[in-house]
Amino acid sequence: MNQTQTVKIINQAKKEGRKVLLETEAKTICTQYDIPVTMFNLAKNEKEASAYAEQIGYPVVLKIVSPDIIHKSDAGGVIVNLKTATEVNIAYKKIIENAIKYKADAKIIGVLIQEMAPQSTEVIVGAIKDPQFGQTVMFGLGGIFVELLKDVNFRVAPINVEDAKEMITQLKAFPLLNGYRNTPPADIDALAAILCSVSRLIMENPEIKELDLNPIMAYPKGAKTVDARIILE
Ligand code: ADP
Ligand code: MG
Repeated sequence: MNQTQTVKIINQAKKEGRKVLLETEAKTICTQYDIPVTMFNLAKNEKEASAYAEQIGYPVVLKIVSPDIIHKSDAGGVIVNLKTATEVNIAYKKIIENAIKYKADAKIIGVLIQEMAPQSTEVIVGAIKDPQFGQTVMFGLGGIFVELLKDVNFRVAPINVEDAKEMITQLKAFPLLNGYRNTPPADIDALAAILCSVSRLIMENPEIKELDLNPIMAYPKGAKTVDARIILE
């Protein structure tokens, strides 16, 4: 296991006085800890954008990469389901334009070209530092289940596979993950593995204050992290 890249990314952000890691940085760290993420490449211009889209394969998603834009969709910084090079070029321009509209002096690192993960049940894995209990991992289902129903489970880290599976199966909404009407059951082992990896990641890197994998697409076989945010102390 090579953790040096994780340490390098964290140190570089600290040096630049950034507390919120870029999606590229957060996902690179995820990869270091065997957390599956959507394939991505950072484009600096339209030509690179369409070249990377060809490499990754359509459809793709384009996203703004800027230390000044944390909630990308709020800034018109996410465009999904692009199917041709022309669409990618138009979206590239639009995303840059939206970013400038959102914050005139936003520092723009580039645009992330990303594999489009097929729609599925969305889950969320999080980590926080609880003032009382310390590093804690969280699991829930995406959307209204977290925001409205607060149907989430927490465990103090480090956790093992059994803990992780309990966090998943003890959710009120678990039936939705366990095969419901015409939705096939989600790969609980894959989700539990992500929880354990996050636990290890935060234990080995105590300068991580908050982590948010939101959403993760849960599939019948495997899972894929679509968005990753890491906030440093
Ligand atoms: P943010 O949370 O910063 O607004 P996200 O990266 O989460 O931005 O993107 C917003 C939404 O767009 C996601 O919740 C997801 O529904 C969709 N999305 C983003 N990236 C992908 C992707 N690679 N594949 C499929 N859907 C995506
Ligand atoms: Mg998100």
